[in-house]
Amino acid sequence: MPRPPAPIDITEMLAGAVLTIDLDAVAANYRLLQKRLAKAEAAAVVKADAYGLGLAKVAPVLAAAGCRTFCVAHVGEAIALRQVLGNTAAVVVLNGLLPDAEDAYAEHALTPALGSLAELAAWQAECKRRNKKLPCWLHVDTGMLRLGLPPDELETLADRPGLLDGLEVAVVMSHLACADERAHPKNRDQLAAFADVRRRLPMGKASFANSAGVFLGRDFRFDIARPGVALYGVAPIAGEPNPMAQVVRLQAKILQVRRVDTPQTVGYGATHRVEGPGRIATVPVGYADGYLRSLSNRGTGYIGDIPVPVVGRVSMDLITLDVTQVPERQASVGALVDLIGPHNPVDRVAQEAGTIGYEILTSLGARYHRAYVGGI
Ligand SMILES: *Cc1c(COP(=O)(O)O)cnc(C)c1O
Repeated sequence: MPRPPAPIDITEMLAGAVLTIDLDAVAANYRLLQKRLAKAEAAAVVKADAYGLGLAKVAPVLAAAGCRTFCVAHVGEAIALRQVLGNTAAVVVLNGLLPDAEDAYAEHALTPALGSLAELAAWQAECKRRNKKLPCWLHVDTGMLRLGLPPDELETLADRPGLLDGLEVAVVMSHLACADERAHPKNRDQLAAFADVRRRLPMGKASFANSAGVFLGRDFRFDIARPGVALYGVAPIAGEPNPMAQVVRLQAKILQVRRVDTPQTVGYGATHRVEGPGRIATVPVGYADGYLRSLSNRGTGYIGDIPVPVVGRVSMDLITLDVTQVPERQASVGALVDLIGPHNPVDRVAQEAGTIGYEILTSLGARYHRAYVGGI
């Protein structure tokens, strides 16, 4: 059998683009959130490989900053995280308990966020088999229609507290649907619904807020918040000044610069026409690297302080930028273009792409050289 090729470490020299991840900024963001939360605890959400930034690098930095509870979506992510952290922290699986997987959760000391009476019964059976009260979270839906106990199951549980026998409910949680819109009436509706949940299920601690929820006011904080995206520098609340430190910078190298003297079109579909005289630079980043195709004719790069608009379509491996306004020696082969940087942070790129910062981060590709700075 031929052996699969060993993964190569893409050095800065060999990479078409460099993704710099500032771990000190992640730690500073954790501390800022923890400070906002006062006596409440900040449980870091590190699902999807810490929002694309690298779980194995990010989680230890958060632990060193004081984080004691970590949340992921999948049980597989939780097992990976347990290996990174050892037994020093609680690892919560937000997606709940997968059928027949109870043993793996218990084996790796994972805490499922149980989201139905069926999951609750399955975890109870696992506790019984092991003759041990294993911790769990209880997830109650207050308006997402996604995961969590629906109203009828909440009713049943409140009427029959025996259903919780043998379980250690560490936390009762719910999740906000519209927290990034401060004035959305759904925030208050869900808060009232969660207060009602707590009257019926007062055991353990309460967890309600995501990143945005932390900034919605004291009422939303409860005992444990679950911030994710703000740790990674994205603005918690849309349209408000961003208090978080920027964590990522993406710099692509210019491969070629083309001079245009007579009118010509750029790229697939000939969607942009350069009238000339001007210069077009090509950099080796495309939609296969998570530079979304919706940034075609919309994205903005920067060379130093000078904006260089994306012209033509984003292709799989390349984009083209109009560098006419940049002095030639600054826009030459090998020069770096900020595709995410001080002038075009993740939130701005997301806006230009018609999406949210979460998607920009979790799409960041595997072909970049990843340079981690700071940390422990
Ligand atoms: C992803 C997630 C979070 C974190 O949300 P952010 O908006 O990234 O802070 C918190 N709770 C649950 C249930 C989630 O799925």
